[in-house]
Amino acid sequence: MPKSINQNLVTGGAGFIGSNLINVLMNKGEKVICIDNFFSGRELNISKWLNHPRFKIINHDLTIPFEIKAEKIWHLACPASPFLFHKNPIETSKTNFLGTLNMLELARKNNSRILLASSSAVYGEAKVHPQIESYKGLVNSFGHRSCYEEGKRIAESLCFDYQKVHNCDVRIARIFNTYGPNMNPKDGRIVSNFIVQAIKNDPITVYGNGEQTRSFCFVDDLVKGLISLMNSNYKKPLNLGNENELKVIELAKKIVLKVGSKSKIINLNLPADDPLKRRPSIALAKKKLNWQPNTDLDAGLTKTIYYFKKELKIQK
Ligand code: UDP
Repeated sequence: MPKSINQNLVTGGAGFIGSNLINVLMNKGEKVICIDNFFSGRELNISKWLNHPRFKIINHDLTIPFEIKAEKIWHLACPASPFLFHKNPIETSKTNFLGTLNMLELARKNNSRILLASSSAVYGEAKVHPQIESYKGLVNSFGHRSCYEEGKRIAESLCFDYQKVHNCDVRIARIFNTYGPNMNPKDGRIVSNFIVQAIKNDPITVYGNGEQTRSFCFVDDLVKGLISLMNSNYKKPLNLGNENELKVIELAKKIVLKVGSKSKIINLNLPADDPLKRRPSIALAKKKLNWQPNTDLDAGLTKTIYYFKKELKIQK
């Protein structure tokens, strides 16, 4: 008898992380149904699979229930860039609450394993550094980031209760800043903004004085972590990210140098509730999954710059 092939459902599969995950699942010979409403996802991210017999794409908004059977549900759908969720806060909250509720219902009915893409955003303006999973966070419930930060918190809370009440098979990844190919050049996040600005020799827009920090994980490393978590028995929230922390201003200078750009760095207002420091503790991921990122920032940026140069040519 031929070995049965896993059926995966990837919500937000046309987005940045979703499409990178799909590439790996498809290359492993698995079956993939990609659901996306193309709010922030782009068809070109998954276009190479469109006619593949193991691949199916469904254009659907997750806030409306639907029926599909899959052994594994990768629930990634949600605008993740502050620029996008500031512009569409109510859709962002709805996707986090209704979308997650609908996916958990699907998992309950079909006995599927479900992985939620949660976020470092649950820690908000963290007072514990680096952020460990047991830290409960400091989040503003009434501000520009609330739709995403509180959205991810209610999504985790739903996962907890579906586990408790229905014994659902849940995995929760708290994803920290991630970058790499398939990012949307217009999504407004730091890595995409700085690289696109540097390539075009436009001013590099550092918000505030640039002293705030982030830790950047290359998407290939992140996808390995997601797969490893999905295949593990660990059912509580787990940080996935890179521990290498740097200041926004340092990233700006590094990108200008790497691109060989003539761009000047300018300072714009720091958005409200922008966390000042962010770095994951990945001790738990190392222990439970034997996982850690192995792409250094220079190597990851080189690949990402190459991707954006190609992308900008296509868009011309
Ligand atoms: N940022 C910046 N210039 C930009 C975009 C972002 O200085 O053009 C800063 C932003 O203020 C934040 C950090 O970069 O401190 C990361 O922002 P991003 O939007 O990528 O995601 P966040 O980590 O805030 O969710």
